[in-house]
Amino acid sequence: MGKNNWTKKELKEFKDYILNKRKTVIDEMEDAKQRADEMLKNDTTNAIYSSHMADAGSDLVEMEKAYYFVQRDSKFLKYLNRALDMIDEGTFGICLSCKKVIDKERLMEVPHTTSCFSCKSSR
Ligand SMILES: [Zn+2]
Repeated sequence: MGKNNWTKKELKEFKDYILNKRKTVIDEMEDAKQRADEMLKNDTTNAIYSSHMADAGSDLVEMEKAYYFVQRDSKFLKYLNRALDMIDEGTFGICLSCKKVIDKERLMEVPHTTSCFSCKSSR
């Protein structure tokens, strides 16, 4: 604690971690999007023949859920990209208010954060 910057090695670890996480998110997004698109396709073809309103309803919920995931993930993806930019800029993981490095655990949760826990909670 009390450090003012990260070592190159630490930054590389963060970068690897974020790149890994980004890959997982992208895979998840592709998956959810595919599921949603498939449901949408099935829905239009089924609607004509199917009289099972209950099924159609739960499909709709599933589809909305899938789209919700895509939306949430794409937001998360933006944050991860932002964090990667910050690593390149040298601003990653450093609190804007007190200029100290941010807790590692906190950075794993919110890699794009620009304030440490104590500055955030004192605001
Ligand atoms: Zn701070």
